[in-house]
Amino acid sequence: MLNSRKLSSLRSGNISARYKEGFFITPSGKKYSSLKNKDIVFVNLDGSFDKKKGIPSSEWKFHQDIYLNKKKAKAIVHAHSTNATAISTHKKRIPPFHYMVAMAGGYDIKCAKYATYGTRDLSKNIIKALKNRKACLIANHGQIAFENNLSKAFELAEEVENISLQYITSLKLGKPKILSLNEMKKVLSKAKNYKRE
Ligand SMILES: [Zn+2]
Repeated sequence: MLNSRKLSSLRSGNISARYKEGFFITPSGKKYSSLKNKDIVFVNLDGSFDKKKGIPSSEWKFHQDIYLNKKKAKAIVHAHSTNATAISTHKKRIPPFHYMVAMAGGYDIKCAKYATYGTRDLSKNIIKALKNRKACLIANHGQIAFENNLSKAFELAEEVENISLQYITSLKLGKPKILSLNEMKKVLSKAKNYKRE
């Protein structure tokens, strides 16, 4: 789906799902079009894994750190989707130019500071940008989204990509009008109530 829905090409990006005291994650360096169930790697929450059973994605550390820091995170989708990545290369957050920005959990979608992929430093930056959020951009890299199940996490990543495209398009006409903090608070509380119904 990362390939067919144009979220990430060939083997970039990665997906994981929490399971018991760890998580299943896509493997390192394999094309998604040829992935089999047996290729999916299990990583314990302490970061250990059985190398004989496969090597997890080189970016497994930020998946581990999100599961350790966010109790509600049950699945994570990380993608180098074109429009989210384009904004991330400007190290810009996405402001509330549209109320759907609230889908990520707050007033805006933050952009995590750059650090080399696969490092703990990048993990730290991502955790910071995910404070009170379920999705963020990652500078000069891409985007990441988590949810309480895999299909919802995937949907959120698709939504972040869609919002990114709308934001870039809107910028072509000049500076878009931004919604107020008050209005976004209304939208956020509406979204919460909607989920409860
Ligand atoms: Zn990546």
